[in-house]
Amino acid sequence: MGGSYAGLFAARVLSDYAEEVVILEPDVIGADGIGSRVPQRHQLHALLAMGLVQLEAWFPSITQELVDGGAPLGEGDDVQFYLDGRLKAPLDGARMLGATRPFLENHLRRRVMSLPNVRLLRLLGRGLVFEGDRVAGVATEAPDGSSREVIDAELVIDAMGRSSRLAAWLSGHGWDSPVTERMDLDLGYATAAFERGGELGSTVIAHSSPGPASGYLPTLTEAGALAAVEGDRWSAVLAGYARDRPGSDADAFLARMRQCVAPLREVADNCAMIGDVATFHFAAGQRRSFSRLRRFPGGLIVVGDALCSVNPVYGQGLTLAALEANCLAAYLRSTTSWRNPAVGYFRRAEAVVEAAWQISSLADLAQPHVTGPYPPGYRLTRWMADMVTTASVIDPGVNSVYMDVVNLLKHPQALRSPKVIARTVRVLLAS
Ligand SMILES: Cc1cc2nc3c(=O)[nH]c(=O)nc-3n(C[C@H](O)[C@H](O)[C@H](O)COP(=O)(O)OP(=O)(O)OC[C@H]3O[C@@H](n4cnc5c(N)ncnc54)[C@H](O)[C@@H]3O)c2cc1C
Repeated sequence: MGGSYAGLFAARVLSDYAEEVVILEPDVIGADGIGSRVPQRHQLHALLAMGLVQLEAWFPSITQELVDGGAPLGEGDDVQFYLDGRLKAPLDGARMLGATRPFLENHLRRRVMSLPNVRLLRLLGRGLVFEGDRVAGVATEAPDGSSREVIDAELVIDAMGRSSRLAAWLSGHGWDSPVTERMDLDLGYATAAFERGGELGSTVIAHSSPGPASGYLPTLTEAGALAAVEGDRWSAVLAGYARDRPGSDADAFLARMRQCVAPLREVADNCAMIGDVATFHFAAGQRRSFSRLRRFPGGLIVVGDALCSVNPVYGQGLTLAALEANCLAAYLRSTTSWRNPAVGYFRRAEAVVEAAWQISSLADLAQPHVTGPYPPGYRLTRWMADMVTTASVIDPGVNSVYMDVVNLLKHPQALRSPKVIARTVRVLLAS
């Protein structure tokens, strides 16, 4: 259920194990890759380094295909991260692709739909069909409500995004509902496209965020990012919380870009805006936990935003969907029957989600308007994270581990290793 990024990834994994994979997706996605049901597709989507690794692992040569289609691949100095307005030391191994979400997803969709045992039905999932203690199918409806049918299935995957109705479907049949954690964020996003020439040389990604020096507030520089994308365009995004949310007025967008770091200022001053500014309001991060439920049916998996949807400023969503697909593959390899509750999958996936949640929630909780929930030991963790973050601006060694964690290549635990702590102390004492 759901044929967007997470559903497509899950279908790719399933195609290795199932006779037939049926994707239920009610949206009509045009050649522009947009459709009407996933409004955030208009926003700039960064693909973290781990996301690119996973994409290539499941879809060999897709990076080259995307590059051939016009998406620039940034390496080393082409990828620039600023913290509190200061450019961080370049990373030797940095590798990020500049592409819009529709372009990236369209390539993924084409690859998945070319698999011989995958097909797509333009249907809306309306509920689950149970047989004893397992899911045996999906009750569906045509998007215009004209017809209903049940699709039998041995394994059902919820990839319906953050507003998935799965919890209500389960409790409606007497099963346990997932434990849901929510963090109110009140985040505003605005994205605009610009014509791209040679104004920034080989720059592919420029990302700027407030950090410890500004108390995580946009006092030293506005939060924003820029990506060189297919079609010789720049895609620029601005982000802000609560009363600081960016609006859709083009002049205000340009004025705010000029309060940002040099690459965004440069583009605002020298490049023509294409089309309108698209805005998005992200009210809250949320994650659902299934691994400890007592009454949960067999034959049911949850992936993507339906499982966890974190603050988008950290660019984790697409990469999480890919990592959860890996968890699905590991589960399918390890299990002898899909009829049992997929506890093994949920344990793995929730461990991956926990790592991403730790990274994003730690920074989110530094925002004065965010009021929790605070994890145990928050103050100490926050203090240590601020030290490491500050050192990462000065020292390439600390920055390398820091960026690996941000890119989901390493677990956040890596930032608490004695080696990183010792180096952080040395760097800060010497500065
Ligand atoms: C403003 C913003 C910016 C973001 N930026 C980034 C970024 O820079 N990098 C990044 O990695 N991530 C980013 N994300 C996160 C990313 O967009 C999500 O993680 C990603 O879309 C999750 O994919 P998904 O397939 O789980 O859900 P979705 O993309 O939301 O798709 C859900 C799908 O389910 C379908 N569906 C819904 N109901 C039903 C039903 N009843 N039956 C069948 N199908 C149904 C929908 O039509 C849709 O196709 C951002 C998110 C936002 C909001």
